[in-house]
Amino acid sequence: MATVKTRSTAKSSNGRHESTPVPKVKQTKLLIGGKWVPARSGKTFATYNPATEEKIADVAEADAADVDLAVKAARKAFDDGPWRRMDARDRGRLLNRLADLVEANLEELAALETLDNGKPIRDSRAADLPLAVDCLRYYAGWADKIHGDTIPVRGNYFCYTRREPLGVAGQIIPWNFPLLMVAWKWGPALAAGCTIVMKPAEQTPLSCLRIAELAMEAGFPDGVINVVPGYGPTAGAALVKHPGVDKIAFTGSTETAQHIMRDAAATLKRTTFELGGKSPNIVFADASQDAAIQGSEFGLFFNQGQCCCAGSRLYVEQSIHDDFVDRLVKRAKGRKLGNPFEASTTQGPQVDQDQFDKIMHYIDSGKTAGASLLTGGKRHGKQGYFVQPTVFTDVQDDMAIAREEIFGPVLCVMPFRSIDEVIQRANDTNYGLAAAVWTRDVSKAHRIAESVRAGTVWVNCYDVFDAAAPFGGFKQSGIGRELGEVALANYTELKTVTVNLNS
Ligand code: NAP
Ligand code: MG
Repeated sequence: MATVKTRSTAKSSNGRHESTPVPKVKQTKLLIGGKWVPARSGKTFATYNPATEEKIADVAEADAADVDLAVKAARKAFDDGPWRRMDARDRGRLLNRLADLVEANLEELAALETLDNGKPIRDSRAADLPLAVDCLRYYAGWADKIHGDTIPVRGNYFCYTRREPLGVAGQIIPWNFPLLMVAWKWGPALAAGCTIVMKPAEQTPLSCLRIAELAMEAGFPDGVINVVPGYGPTAGAALVKHPGVDKIAFTGSTETAQHIMRDAAATLKRTTFELGGKSPNIVFADASQDAAIQGSEFGLFFNQGQCCCAGSRLYVEQSIHDDFVDRLVKRAKGRKLGNPFEASTTQGPQVDQDQFDKIMHYIDSGKTAGASLLTGGKRHGKQGYFVQPTVFTDVQDDMAIAREEIFGPVLCVMPFRSIDEVIQRANDTNYGLAAAVWTRDVSKAHRIAESVRAGTVWVNCYDVFDAAAPFGGFKQSGIGRELGEVALANYTELKTVTVNLNS
């Protein structure tokens, strides 16, 4: 356990606190079979505050031995335990109770998220937490609405299907939306009646551990939810390879997904993947300029650019390109970087040194390749992994900055002349997670929505998420969909029962 010094709790002139106090870390152990335990090895790993580079806490480090215990606990809770046989309505009630507890502890969880991830407190409060609560409630409502069909088969038989819980779900999540990813993964799995072993990202284990405490408080039976923080190649890989795990749900990089797919093949696990992107954001000259500029800024810089669906390729119609870029650069320069606990901060640090270095490498590669750096490009301040909001123009489609996922506050703006041209260029990528189009012309909007090969298309908006709306990738951006009714299928097996009516 650890308490962290508050770096800044400045009061404004009217005496009101503008800076949220840094929260206490309450839980740093593993959750296995309903008990909080240290790692078998006794090892711990440190999690850091990306805004200060200071250590926050040491967290128990799970490896294969702990994962084995967690899977056995989840297996027992599934095979013998009350979970699968519990009335579906009662499962839904537990999920609703968890949502209520998350809501009741919203301020603490938002602050914990900001501490561990570095995202501005205003975003944790207004986006991550409310979306997580909504997602848990949405799936609570599904728990007693998962059912099969009756099938009119030939002959004197009664045929019906059942949707049964898949079993033990191994869930591996990244660090960019730690708590929201917990909600996206737990919601459908628990509604369906699965049990869970979750590995949070090494950079951001704290909010996952805290919500797991709240789940115990809500009354989830022992072993239904297990949490094993640790490293990907050890704890993560052990989960993927474990024969007691029926399914792996993963969010993260395409490279790690390829690794997981290979590892999961040996036991033929069900897998779903939500991966990276290089999403095109297309602005036509007839669009509302104010809305498109605001949406383009938000679509890329939100969450420090650490969004799988970031609108990182901005295509602007030639006739408005220069003016649009001028206004966008002004907005980029107006972003307020600094202590993420300050209410006025709009951009925090990147999550760690690796991500910071990766982004700087891409900025250098853009400059070397001949793109024009209009603003940003440097570190902000001396402490913390802050990167200035960065905008490039004169970007060619084949440059690395236009093709590869940077996962940082780096925007590439490119002009286009015709709708056919921009559709072709938008689709010239291995990714296919999201896209957006800004226009007042309904035909153009639908033409783009129909032609761009991506799992989500936003029209005159960006990053609009709802627990009811499916999300996931075409091509190398993923396999399967999360959210909505369709995500329940990720956690159920379909059983066909045929009854001879002659006997
Ligand atoms: P990553 O390696 O894909 O990490 C995601 C999760 O997978 C983490 O929990 C990680 O564990 C785990 N993992 C890593 N190797 C594994 C393995 N062999 N078997 C099982 N699990 C494994 O992503 P990253 O290294 O944090 O970031 C690299 C890049 O991925 C980013 O720059 C960005 O481009 C992309 N990314 C995408 C998303 C997204 O939302 N789609 C999110 C994060 C990152 P650890 O705790 O050890 O990391
Ligand atoms: Mg951290």
